[in-house]
Amino acid sequence: MFILSLAGLSQHEKARAGVLYGISGMALALAATFWLTVQDAWGSEPGRAGLLVLVIAVLVGGAIGLWRARVVQMTGIPELIALLHSFVGLAAVLVGWNGHLAAPDLSGSLLAVHHAEVFIGVFIGAVTFTGSIVAFLKLSARMKSSPLMLPGKNAINLGALAAFVALTVWYVNDSALWLLVVVTILALGLGWHLVASIGGGDMPVVVSMLNSYSGWAAAAAGFLLNNDLLIITGALVGSSGAYLSYIMCKAMNRSFLAVIAGGFGIAAPTGGDADYGEHQEISAQATAELLSRASSVVITPGYGMAVAQAQYPVAELAHRLRERGVDVRFGIHPVAGRLPGHMNVLLAEAKVPYDIVLEMDEINDDLGKTSVVLVIGANDTVNPAAAEDPSSPIAGMPVLRVWEAENVVVFKRSMAAGYAGVQNPLFYRENAQMLFGDAKQRVEDILRAL
Ligand code: NDP
Repeated sequence: MFILSLAGLSQHEKARAGVLYGISGMALALAATFWLTVQDAWGSEPGRAGLLVLVIAVLVGGAIGLWRARVVQMTGIPELIALLHSFVGLAAVLVGWNGHLAAPDLSGSLLAVHHAEVFIGVFIGAVTFTGSIVAFLKLSARMKSSPLMLPGKNAINLGALAAFVALTVWYVNDSALWLLVVVTILALGLGWHLVASIGGGDMPVVVSMLNSYSGWAAAAAGFLLNNDLLIITGALVGSSGAYLSYIMCKAMNRSFLAVIAGGFGIAAPTGGDADYGEHQEISAQATAELLSRASSVVITPGYGMAVAQAQYPVAELAHRLRERGVDVRFGIHPVAGRLPGHMNVLLAEAKVPYDIVLEMDEINDDLGKTSVVLVIGANDTVNPAAAEDPSSPIAGMPVLRVWEAENVVVFKRSMAAGYAGVQNPLFYRENAQMLFGDAKQRVEDILRAL
């Protein structure tokens, strides 16, 4: 079921079925666990205690989960997911500690393997736990998104890894409790430092990386608990998360190691206060006139569309223009929004036909032949500095080359910078005009004017 779920989620048309497969797989796993616990409870006192704990945990956890899922805003999903990853990490730490305290009846090499499992599980789990908490704090703006720059930060990371390897060898030979305490503290610190020192623009890779770690943490717990399902599920999440990290790195033209070593989002010595001249403003009425004369329109949405919940009027606008014979398409940057696929989800929610939703690479070469590009709440993903200014903190990141179009209208509320904190020279180009205000309201104004 989980494999079918992943396969389904890789295509728009089958995504809904993919989610249903995932839910069914999880429901089956829970039902089987419940059934096994009930059987245990039949014959033994500890079994009955186990059943009681299970029922309480499912009721409390299920209630909190249902409540959070119902109240969470679409824009809050990225940080919620980061928080959920932290729970997987914490669970792996607890399972690891339990593996130490409830020493199994093993000897020789099997015992050594068990010790290695405990140690590695606790390490991965603790890194995932604090790393995800920092990601949660950064994504929910409770912590600044700029990178923490401790002196010798790469040496700290590498030193922590080397210490982990040495401690593992030690623990396998002499399973002292204090070693487990040390590795737990080391890994908690490493997870915190690893994510705290990554800058805003690199957060997409961090989210997918933590997704992957949470999978490996679950797989490690599976080995300890002798649970095949957990091992397989963990491996699926771990490897698909790793592959997603690779896709995100490629989308941003960065190597994984470069991301860990830090870079994007670090304020550049120049560029921050550069004088790009004056920007021009446009009204909703004038935008409507521009659109009614256009033969082709490309809409490039970004995080602001999610904040404004503008996807419904945007879908309506695309529909109206298409009815008038205008060629309308959407251009989606791989890291637009705050989650991989964020924009695709919003557009699918608003029932935009999949065949007009194109990826950056599919649309970039057509932008030069486009009459009007509507940049709806996007900023970093349409920043020409990435392509043209080698000193920019986001230099080298592929972006949607919207400035090549005849006209660009940028929907946002102010001249503020995007998530990476970098100024955007697009706003000052001759063919670009700013339409200030909440994206949803402005698109509705355009619809009325049309
Ligand atoms: P940005 O985050 O760069 O910019 C969004 C813009 O939307 C802001 O400049 C803001 O300007 C505007 N905005 C916000 N609210 C509204 C509103 N209600 N109406 C109109 N405009 C609004 O967006 P992008 O999508 O272009 O870039 C995504 C960034 O997030 C990249 O730096 C990416 O690396 C990073 N990121 C992506 C993740 C992913 O997985 N996709 C995960 C984590 C980070 P103003 O305030 O002036 O309105």
